Amino acid sequence: MAAAAEHDPAAARLKVTEIFFSIQGEAVFSGWPTVFVRLTGCPLRCQYCDTAYAFTGGEWRTFAEIEAEVRRHGTPYVCVTGGEPLAQPRCAALLTELCDSGFNVSLETSGAIDIACVDTRVARVVDLKTPGSKEVEHNRWQNLELLTPHDAVKIVICDRADYEWARDVLAKHVLPCPVFFSPSYEQLPAGTLADWILADRLPVRLQVQLHKVLWGNVPGR
Ligand code: SF4
Repeated sequence: MAAAAEHDPAAARLKVTEIFFSIQGEAVFSGWPTVFVRLTGCPLRCQYCDTAYAFTGGEWRTFAEIEAEVRRHGTPYVCVTGGEPLAQPRCAALLTELCDSGFNVSLETSGAIDIACVDTRVARVVDLKTPGSKEVEHNRWQNLELLTPHDAVKIVICDRADYEWARDVLAKHVLPCPVFFSPSYEQLPAGTLADWILADRLPVRLQVQLHKVLWGNVPGR
């Protein structure tokens, strides 16, 4: 059975924590009704993680089952997220299949895993982990060289030290895509981060996680 699945893309499987319909709360597609496919597993342990329930468990779903569930929600926007979706190598094939099916596909990734495998039609939202995340050593800096204007970088800021770290990173790297600064939920007031950005005239976009403004910090929204 396993060998047959390798030759039949629709029968390939991924471990899925949840598939749900919500408002995209982050990055360039913020505000669009979107289907989220949350894959299980993550090798990181950011101190502010709001999806620890996706670290383990989940259910094996075939690509065909995943796509059928996505299609059921009737929106062209699909976001594959986690956990760290690229921790499951077959994620790249699912992304390509969703693009081939005509969906507008985005990927949310921790920035710790090589993004070269991801179809260039996918809008990749790549995190840069700050010292305050406690996972800064896992940043895969080579990913920055692979970014295109179609992608985005997201940096979750926990405090002033994180802000200055992120500002220094942007001074050293010219990025071709939008950069979003997001205050760590309940750790840094959004207004404080806005003031810092304005004072420095930083060419970044402030991002407040829209889904948490709407519904709070709850799974599946
Ligand atoms: S990379 Fe994302 S899912 Fe993984 S621990 Fe960090 S915040 Fe949580």
